Formats: sequence, C-alpha cells, structure tokens
Amino acid sequence: MDIFFIVVFFLYGLIFGSFFNVVGLRVPTKSLFSEKRSYCDTCQRTLSWRELIPVFSYLIQKGKCRGCHQRISLIYPLMEFATGILFASTYYFFGITNQMILGVLLISLIIPVSVSDIEYKRIPNRILIFFSPLFLIYRLFFPLNPFYMSGIGAVVAFILVLIIILISKGGMGVGDLKYFTLFGFIFGLYHFLLLFFLSTLFGSIGGLITMKINRLGRKSRIAFGPYIGLAALTVFFVGEPLIDWYISLF
Ligand SMILES: [Zn+2]
Repeated sequence: MDIFFIVVFFLYGLIFGSFFNVVGLRVPTKSLFSEKRSYCDTCQRTLSWRELIPVFSYLIQKGKCRGCHQRISLIYPLMEFATGILFASTYYFFGITNQMILGVLLISLIIPVSVSDIEYKRIPNRILIFFSPLFLIYRLFFPLNPFYMSGIGAVVAFILVLIIILISKGGMGVGDLKYFTLFGFIFGLYHFLLLFFLSTLFGSIGGLITMKINRLGRKSRIAFGPYIGLAALTVFFVGEPLIDWYISLF
C-alpha cells in the first residue's frame, strides 16, 4: 500500500475537516456564504492564515483565541483530526474504488452533521437535502445486491424510528428520523439494522459518560447525531466482518 497516498489523503482530510466544521457551524445559522473570511465567534476578529491551519493552529495557540484568549472548543481540532484519519483509512482499506467514493461521501455528511448536532442540538435539513441526491446517484451507479434493498432499508428505517419517537416522546427527533432513513437507503436493510443497534449502544454509553461529566439530569437532551454517524462509519468499515461474526455464533 502506497504510504504517499495515505499521507495525501490524511492531509486532505485535515483541510476538508476544517471546512466541515465551518459547514456544521454556519449552515444552521444560514451564514455559510455570507461571511467571506473565518472569524473568532467571541471577539469577531478575522483570523489570519496562521490561525487556520487544521489541528496545528489549535495546538500552537494552546486552544485559545490569540485576540481575546477565549477557549476554543476541543471539538474542532478533534473533528479535523478525525476527518484526516477517516480519509486516510478509506484509501488504506479500499484504494481507488467505488467504496472509496462512498467513504468520502459518508465522511463529508457525517462530520458536519455531528458538529451541528453537538453545537445546536439539531441535524440541519439543508445538509441532508444536499447529500441525499448524491447518495441516490451513487446507488444508481453502484446498487446494493439486490438493488431494492435500498428501498426496503429506507422504509424499515423510517417506520422503526418513527415508532420509537412516538413511544419515547423526546428521545429522538425528526432530524434523527431523516438521518436514519438516509442511512437505511445507503446501507440496505441488514446493515441498517446493525447500524441502528450500534447507534443505540454507542448513544447509551456516550450519553451516560456525558451526563456524568456535565452533571446533567436524565431529562436533558443529548445530541444523538454523532452516535448515529459513529455507527454508520463502523458499519462502513467493519460491517461485513461484524455480520459474518454474528452469523457464525449460530
Ligand atoms: Zn477571539
């Protein structure tokens, strides 16, 4: 495996990760294209190029704005680094294939949605609307086997999550419903069921940890989107071996 391309994918991931942060932060406030340059959210100062280097700027500035010394959330460098690792992994595992295209599309959807859900507790419609046709086109060129599994996956995802929303009253939102339905379409029925199981597992563990750290009550709303995204990436990278292992148990 060519180490050069792995490094290139990693570096592109850092740069794209930086852009995904901006998308996740600005799409919900409808300011993605209204501001030309990046700025500090607290003191509104325009950032110089030295403050815009993914991950490294954060480390050099010790996590603080150079103007107002306000703490910068650890979420942003973490998302940049995660995107770098994920882009590199996609190339490492799949090379230049259609699976790699799917991987890059998934990461480009999941990172901004996660940023937005963590920051604003919502999954922006506009990000889902932007990506849905791209996944539709992808599945036209590279359909599941059999092709109608995409349709069944989407319908089952929609009905299953809708029932859970109606029963649980507030555990999940409409954004989660649309997000799950899109993944049902992308992955098909069986992989979607694994994705759904993993997201509730990750969500329960993550939810308990966040509540402990933030001393939140049980009623407080926890962003579920990042766990759905984490489950989707798990299914994408290790779905086949996981399902094989599960079947081998019987
Ligand atoms: Zn500042």
